[in-house]
Amino acid sequence: MTSRGLLARLLLLCGGVLPLQSWALEQVTLQLKWRHQFQFAGYYAALEQGYYRRAGLDVRIVEAEPDQDTVAQVLQGRAQYGVGHSNLVLLRSQGKPVVVLAVILQHSPYVYIARGDIDHVHELVGKRVMQEQQGDELFAYLHKEGVHPRRLQLVPHSFSAADLLAGRVDAISAYSTDELFEVRASGQPHTVLTPRSAGVDFYGDNLFTTEEEIRRHPQRVKAFREASLRGWQYAMAHPREMAEAIHARWGQRHSREHLLFEAGEMQRLMQPELVEIGHMNLGRWRHIAETYQELGMLDSARLDGFLYDPEERPDRTQLVAALALFVAATVVLGLTVGHLRRLNRRLSQREQALREAHAALQARVCEIEGLQSRLQEQALRDPLTGLFNRRYMDETLEHELARARRGGYPLALVMLDVDHFKRINDTYGHAGGDELLRHLGRLLRQLCREGDIACRYGGEEFLLLLPGLQEPALRERAEFWRCSVEAMVVTTHAGAAFSVTASLGAAVFPRDAQDVRTLQRSADRALYRAKEKGRNRVEFALAAGEDESREASGVVG
Ligand code: GH3
Ligand code: MG
Ligand code: MG
Repeated sequence: MTSRGLLARLLLLCGGVLPLQSWALEQVTLQLKWRHQFQFAGYYAALEQGYYRRAGLDVRIVEAEPDQDTVAQVLQGRAQYGVGHSNLVLLRSQGKPVVVLAVILQHSPYVYIARGDIDHVHELVGKRVMQEQQGDELFAYLHKEGVHPRRLQLVPHSFSAADLLAGRVDAISAYSTDELFEVRASGQPHTVLTPRSAGVDFYGDNLFTTEEEIRRHPQRVKAFREASLRGWQYAMAHPREMAEAIHARWGQRHSREHLLFEAGEMQRLMQPELVEIGHMNLGRWRHIAETYQELGMLDSARLDGFLYDPEERPDRTQLVAALALFVAATVVLGLTVGHLRRLNRRLSQREQALREAHAALQARVCEIEGLQSRLQEQALRDPLTGLFNRRYMDETLEHELARARRGGYPLALVMLDVDHFKRINDTYGHAGGDELLRHLGRLLRQLCREGDIACRYGGEEFLLLLPGLQEPALRERAEFWRCSVEAMVVTTHAGAAFSVTASLGAAVFPRDAQDVRTLQRSADRALYRAKEKGRNRVEFALAAGEDESREASGVVG
């Protein structure tokens, strides 16, 4: 064999004997309450099936010596876990820090096996009864049946059915799972007296530990319990295989048949198909505690913390810390979110308010602008006719004349005055006169071309400013206006219809005048001449000198 092959075989061998993770396993001891037998099959299964190892545990299973106080072994730290009687509840109430992890036998196997002619517990009075001092539920049984233990001849226990079968005693306390096998096998008549017939129903074997173990090694407790119960499931599902295993590796005190009998009796007491292995409830434990009270062995039951809760145990301090952290974080987060929400709300409220203010402001600006332009319009326009007013014309005349001068084009000014307007007022009332003025305003607006400016200069007198227009076009247009006024029919609100005529006087820059004042005066004089000449006519300013001489000679009039 090569040196490499040798090394590989050595490693394989080591691997088989010492599981690789064995260095990391936690060593714990399980203290049994009796000798190795099927009664503890689940623990052997957990060990041999590797459930303990996989849970990180290196478990040592220790059997009990006769008369050994197994609970004390655990309380004193020689073992971390133990299998105990239902007197655990008594010990707990007396202040011992034991905690029950799981109930294996739902009903106690503790019974009396008596000679066949004894068929009631009363008949044990005066008889030789081989009984352990710890057999609490049997004492409870006697008590319930009104039999005082002192009335029995109690003899020390040999832990064998041989004394009963040989007739040395009349009854023995026994496990129905164990000694009953020998008695039955002997074929001798016998009676099984069970406390359950008197309503005393204790739990059987119970897996327990201490408060300290749970406090210091919560995960280990959980793991040990789970692996043990898994072992029990395996054992009860494979009784034959387990009987073989126990016989082969855990002691040959009992035959395979005896072990199988034990397994069968345990099935009856465990009912694994009905009750989950390990299950226990507080009510049953209370019943047990009350039975102890009846016996006068217990003042008051204290069950707080006696039942292990696999869901609750794991490190509570960490849980509480994590919870506190979570709550604190939630509160901080909540406050922050709340603050941000409020801020956001305030900002959006502000934004909304700003937007509203902006909109209101804009509306106000529009309103003011409208008002302003209306005011401007009103300031420049005549409200009755809608034409420009005298103020506008005065300003515009200067401006337009300057433009015409710069532009080198003529600027004509025509004055129009309604003939005998007073009569219209007199005939149709002031409203009729106004109606005429409105009609006239509309007409003049219609007759104006782009660049022309018409205004009501005062009363029934209108001014027309016509840039770029000179004779003969001016003469034609002025005549056209005169005709248009003459053709206009005014209808009053009262239903009357009438017509008027107008006289027009025109002057042109630069031919007739060089400035506004002279231009106005020239047009005004021409109008005056039109009136003088009989009205309903157009007159033009006369050339310088001509006007004076004609007026002086009395031609006009
Ligand atoms: P003429 O042909 O010489 O111009 O005769 P006329 O009656 O028009 O004479 P004049 O120009 O002197 O009279 C103008 C009259 O117009 C005087 C006034 O009562 C009237 N008037 C002035 N403004 C208004 C107005 O806004 N509405 C009305 N209904 N009448 C007005
Ligand atoms: Mg007038
Ligand atoms: Mg007039």
